[in-house]
Amino acid sequence: RAKEQGRNNFQFYTPDMNFRAGELLMLETELRKAIDEDQLVLHYQPQVHMASGALVGMEALVRWRHPEQGMVSPGDFIPLAEDSGLILPIGVWVLRTACAQNRAWQEMGLPPIRVSVNISARQFRQIELVRTVERILAETGLDPAWLELEITESSIMYDIEAVIQILQELNAMGVRLAIDDFGTGYSSLSYLKRLPVSTLKIDQSFVRDITTDHNDAAIATSVIALARSMGLEVIAEGVEAPEQMAFLQQRGCYRGQGYYFSRPLAVEEFTAWYRRAAVKPEELSAVEG
Ligand code: C2E
Ligand code: MG
Ligand code: MG
Ligand code: MG
Repeated sequence: RAKEQGRNNFQFYTPDMNFRAGELLMLETELRKAIDEDQLVLHYQPQVHMASGALVGMEALVRWRHPEQGMVSPGDFIPLAEDSGLILPIGVWVLRTACAQNRAWQEMGLPPIRVSVNISARQFRQIELVRTVERILAETGLDPAWLELEITESSIMYDIEAVIQILQELNAMGVRLAIDDFGTGYSSLSYLKRLPVSTLKIDQSFVRDITTDHNDAAIATSVIALARSMGLEVIAEGVEAPEQMAFLQQRGCYRGQGYYFSRPLAVEEFTAWYRRAAVKPEELSAVEG
């Protein structure tokens, strides 16, 4: 995917690559150094109320500012981070940075919105995650209502009972929970009613050809209907064209994230976007469908 997006033609690691142990160790050492030497950076992608363009949230997406390779996308190092366990310190850094940044925007007087943070399966296997989130919210002073954690179906299905307990504790703290890439994993719909999640994110693979592929259209339509009838919020990922936006809106999905609105932005650019597009919470109910 990094290649398609033209960010760089360079791939660090994918799980199916047959690395020699020495090479892997070197990458791991570099990644470890990246954490210590502040080479990781978060970009933020706007989530908008599509009809009005109002900013309703943002997703924090990690990048590695590599001294020689330039900006490396998460698809090229998150898998290695997961396999090596480095995802745990990286995950803590991401959470703390995203919460601190959101708090900083609020302190600049911008209307509060949620920041969504991706949590990997490995982080989810630790009950410690609850304490970590609690500690970071206390340290940064961010109200839990302004934090959303994105989890994937596969991390939920790994150990469903343990995950439900962790989700319930996070939910009780007031943190919001979203299922990322919804529809791409082995979701068992019967579990959905037991999970205290508030949002389903329609995966971009269904949005891409939504106006031309009957199956994608049917899946997206069903996810929207499912979310709405369960009282969940729904947001579409990977919206790149006005026709996709119109299709989604016609079927009751009013929130979107994608290049049509904005690519993920560095903090300064995002701040400018935020100033321009944010609406006050009291105005939000008026624009919501
Ligand atoms: P994701 O959470 O599903 O994030 C959405 C991805 O889609 C992002 O890629 C985003 O840049 C990209 N995207 C957004 N709009 C569009 C669009 O209109 N068209 C297309 N083609 N792509 C779009 P990115 O930033 O490369 O991240 C890839 C994945 O890496 C994420 O997928 C997430 O699974 C993972 N990731 C990113 N940051 C983190 C992190 O801090 N922690 C963890 N554990 N995983 C992360
Ligand atoms: Mg995500
Ligand atoms: Mg996604
Ligand atoms: Mg993903």
